[in-house]
Amino acid sequence: MTPTPSAHPSARSIADDIRTGRRTAVEVCAASLAAIASNDPRLTAFVTVTGERALETAARIDADRARGAGLDRPLLGVPMAVKDNLCTAGVRTTAASRVLADYVPPYSATVITRLQEAGAVVIGKTNLDEFSMGSSTEHSALGATRNPWDEARTPGGSSGGSAAAVAAGMVPAALGSDTGGSIRQPAAFCGLVGLKPTYGRVSRYGLIAFASSLDQVGPMTRTAADAALVLEAIAGHDPHDATSSHEPVPSLRAALGRGVVGLRIGVPRTLLQDGVDQGILNGFDAALARWTAAGAQLVDITLPHTAHAVPVYYLIATAEASSNLSRYDGVRYGARASLTREQGLRDAYMLTRAQGFGDEVKRRIMLGTYVLSHGYYEAYYLKAQQVRTLLRRDYDDAFGLCDVVAMPTTPSPAYRLGEKTDSPLQMYLEDIFTVSANLTGLPALSAPAGLTSDGLPVGVQLMGRMFDEATLLAAAQVLED
Ligand code: GLN
Repeated sequence: MTPTPSAHPSARSIADDIRTGRRTAVEVCAASLAAIASNDPRLTAFVTVTGERALETAARIDADRARGAGLDRPLLGVPMAVKDNLCTAGVRTTAASRVLADYVPPYSATVITRLQEAGAVVIGKTNLDEFSMGSSTEHSALGATRNPWDEARTPGGSSGGSAAAVAAGMVPAALGSDTGGSIRQPAAFCGLVGLKPTYGRVSRYGLIAFASSLDQVGPMTRTAADAALVLEAIAGHDPHDATSSHEPVPSLRAALGRGVVGLRIGVPRTLLQDGVDQGILNGFDAALARWTAAGAQLVDITLPHTAHAVPVYYLIATAEASSNLSRYDGVRYGARASLTREQGLRDAYMLTRAQGFGDEVKRRIMLGTYVLSHGYYEAYYLKAQQVRTLLRRDYDDAFGLCDVVAMPTTPSPAYRLGEKTDSPLQMYLEDIFTVSANLTGLPALSAPAGLTSDGLPVGVQLMGRMFDEATLLAAAQVLED
């Protein structure tokens, strides 16, 4: 197993091979299952592997092909892993929580249905921090996932299982979700392309909610071309999600190869003055040099409110989470604690939630409940919403000067398992570069930008104007040449 992108075929080449008859969907699916069987006992990327279902789907694709049907499907026979906070009809969906350990949804998330319509074969559900709350996949009721580049380290989180599955070559592409960086940070830690689409670009129907004004689903792949392929399949309005946009989805595949000639890249240098690892800065500067060599122009920008982004994010995200997670009460959803004869409804709520949720989730529910409570609402929640508006204005100003904003995805490369679990604040501060995209709704992508001297992947982040994922993908592709 090598986590290098070139070692494994891309989603696009797999679909082409199946289309032209070079390989069958069943062969591809079986190879993917074999890679999972040999790697996953060490990495724990998967919560559930749906091998039989996947092989049946693949066989159907091969049968269709024999009749000449379905050949235009862009992800024809591509095995994909999906984060286990996306509902899959008839397949357990846990959000890595004890409270949903046995939850089998009666319906699939829109993104899952769309992947299937595009010809993809969903091969399994990947590990995450419980309810997506975390940055290391260590807050999972099912145990931590390991980083294929260095198994003593975290793959990042919360979509760490999806990142590890793709980086280890178990699947060419996966879906993650991103509320404050959960696609981009694990993509950066595992040397992948990870894209958080513009808020509203992708349906959230069937995504187990963490913070509804911040959550988006997006692709995690080894190449920009594959990210474009997957995003095109899942994007677009969905009548089941009132926040999904009617904005037309352009051909993202057509945008590839467009290059960066004349692209103005805004660089907020003042944000990089301290606390950023030297290996990360070197990778970042190397990426900027590649872009300028390819015809882009660098522009100095300032994003003055970024210093407040992490506290603002942790106020808003926890407030929304405390409300979203109130549904897990042992009555409507999931597990219920067993009661003695003397215990009543109140005990049922308290015990179910005490036993069902892990420490990090409880910490967030308490914080979120506090900031929404009478007497603190104005001081914390309302103030955070006001600063959120100022952050968005920073970016509106910046986009007067440049077309995309570049910064590292993370201040440091993948850290060791256990290194930050004792200090939640330390872990939260690592989100400094990623949370602004969620607070503003802007699209943001992390692309591989080389390795540190220790051989760990570096991610460079690009943020774009609303609905301009195409420019991000085209720029990311330039780094692959
Ligand atoms: N690390 C952030 C958090 O812990 C982001 C998580 C996410 O994007 N789901 O909340």
